[in-house]
Amino acid sequence: MTQTTHFGFRTVAEEEKASLVRGVFDSVASRYDLMNDLMSAGLHRAWKNDMVGMLAPRAGMQIIDVAGGTGDIAFRMLKRAACEVTVCDINQHMLDEGRNRAIDRNLLHGVEWVCGNAESMPFPDASFDAYTIAFGIRNVTHIDLALQEAFRLLKPGGRFLCLEFSHLQHEWMQKCYDRYSFAAIPKIGAWVTGKGDPYQYLVESIRKFPTQEAFAKMMGSAGFGNVQFRNLTQGVVAIHSGRKF
Ligand code: SAM
Repeated sequence: MTQTTHFGFRTVAEEEKASLVRGVFDSVASRYDLMNDLMSAGLHRAWKNDMVGMLAPRAGMQIIDVAGGTGDIAFRMLKRAACEVTVCDINQHMLDEGRNRAIDRNLLHGVEWVCGNAESMPFPDASFDAYTIAFGIRNVTHIDLALQEAFRLLKPGGRFLCLEFSHLQHEWMQKCYDRYSFAAIPKIGAWVTGKGDPYQYLVESIRKFPTQEAFAKMMGSAGFGNVQFRNLTQGVVAIHSGRKF
């Protein structure tokens, strides 16, 4: 029997999801960074700074930023320390945009761009001191597999940090936020990129993502210890952290 999963609010065959997600990011890659600013009123910058601040990268640290897209997280890390960052993403167009941005910023050292799926990463066990993923894990078909891979890739003592859209702390806030996101974001997307559908998927996928507590439990099941989360902007996003002991 065909196993199914969700793609936003649609039910699709599991094997279809990765290519549907790839299609979403193919179609938005060139305007992705502008759209982030417009949709979040620039807040995504502060959220990303918070996650990188929590990690506090140090010189020589080997970090993998999964679903790293156009390099927003990697650039912040490299600005803070002479660390080595591997940006891994399933979508080559997003990586190409990132590489071009890196060239524009003269960031040619300390960063590598690798195409790969978070569920089966092309790296040996215990390769990295830290694993980060920002606004990526909700797009993955099997989140449990991605978490197991994160655990596998980390060295003992390694740190896992995940920044993701989450669930607001009060019901009335969630309702206002839903009203804004479902009404405005696909329209802004259509206006800027000429396509509203990818942004309809983005808002739906946010609603389908597990709650902060449920995701923390999934991290524990993958083997992480000291699992914690911090809500930012009342839970519009949350940063989950854990360690491989
Ligand atoms: N982390 C970047 C940022 O915060 O700006 C990009 C986030 S973007 C919303 C989501 C990224 O996840 C896209 O670049 C997409 O290609 C990537 N992605 C989706 N599914 C993936 C998977 N299974 N493995 C790796 N990357 C994936």
